[in-house]
Amino acid sequence: MMYGKSSDECIKGMVMGEHFVGVDIGGTWIRIALTTSNGSIENKIVVRTPREGDRYTIANLIVEAIRTNFKEHLEKIKAIGIGTAGPMDLSRGVVINAPNIPIRTFELAQPIQEALKKPVIMANDCIAGVWGEKIFGLGRDYENVVYITISTGIGGGMIVNGNLLLGKMGNAHEIGHIVVDVSGRMRCGCGGYGHWEAYASGANIPRFASLLLEEWSLTEEEKDSEVYKAYREGNLSSELIYSAAKRGDRLALRIVDEVNRYNIAGFENVINLYDPEIIVVGGSVALKNKELVIDRVREGVKRSQGVVTELPRIEPTAFGDDVVLIGAIALAVKPPQTLIKMLKYLQYL
Ligand SMILES: [Zn+2]
Repeated sequence: MMYGKSSDECIKGMVMGEHFVGVDIGGTWIRIALTTSNGSIENKIVVRTPREGDRYTIANLIVEAIRTNFKEHLEKIKAIGIGTAGPMDLSRGVVINAPNIPIRTFELAQPIQEALKKPVIMANDCIAGVWGEKIFGLGRDYENVVYITISTGIGGGMIVNGNLLLGKMGNAHEIGHIVVDVSGRMRCGCGGYGHWEAYASGANIPRFASLLLEEWSLTEEEKDSEVYKAYREGNLSSELIYSAAKRGDRLALRIVDEVNRYNIAGFENVINLYDPEIIVVGGSVALKNKELVIDRVREGVKRSQGVVTELPRIEPTAFGDDVVLIGAIALAVKPPQTLIKMLKYLQYL
């Protein structure tokens, strides 16, 4: 696969034999890819995220996987990029108390960098995502790019006037936790009330739907819905709601409309804050339900937006599940200046 770089650069990459490694660390899987400088993946491995271990287990696993699987190319690897779930202290290259990774606190960049003697450029997964879109994806032709993921949680990465935004420790843009409901009906996993993620993320849609089903008076047709049956049996899931909605189930569609009110509010906040030219959307909830999520949000934003700013394009990522992995590759191939300044541990670059 090639990601839109010119064939000249592609050939240069091959002649020079330069290789890069991208690593995507999620709650369930760690994906590791070997690429050339145009971002085309030559070899990809996927391993389960360790359930237990010490603060070096994850770094050791990544070092071993690179040494074993990319043996012939080891000398030609120029840099390693990592996109990981957070939060983190970027200056030290450490992940701290990550709610979605079983080993919550761990050393990451330094042990890998020391073991392999290659520069390791790490960032939070959504920051990697937006950088991947800017270097290889739909954000290529823009200076103002936002990446939003709607998955188990909701997060974002921003590039404003060509600058990647990071914040003091590299955890900026926790957009899943902006308040979209001042009445605070739903409590978020972070402990706050009325946060976007509490209404519209994959993990929380069933809870919000249950609240709606308690409140609403239902028609006989709606009571026959498999969504209502699953609710009564305690088996409600996001997948079930969206698949029923795709088949035209009225109750499911009513829930989806309600969830989208909060998605639209979230997108409007992001548009007004960052004034992007394009918002690229990823995450399993959005990508598996493009019409019911992305198309509806695009229409909703159009209807309710004032005259504050010109509306951006809103598009699904072309990279699917690989968006963070390709972002990690982009960090290695073309490290952002704002990020380099922040990584105090960085060597060998
Ligand atoms: Zn929250």
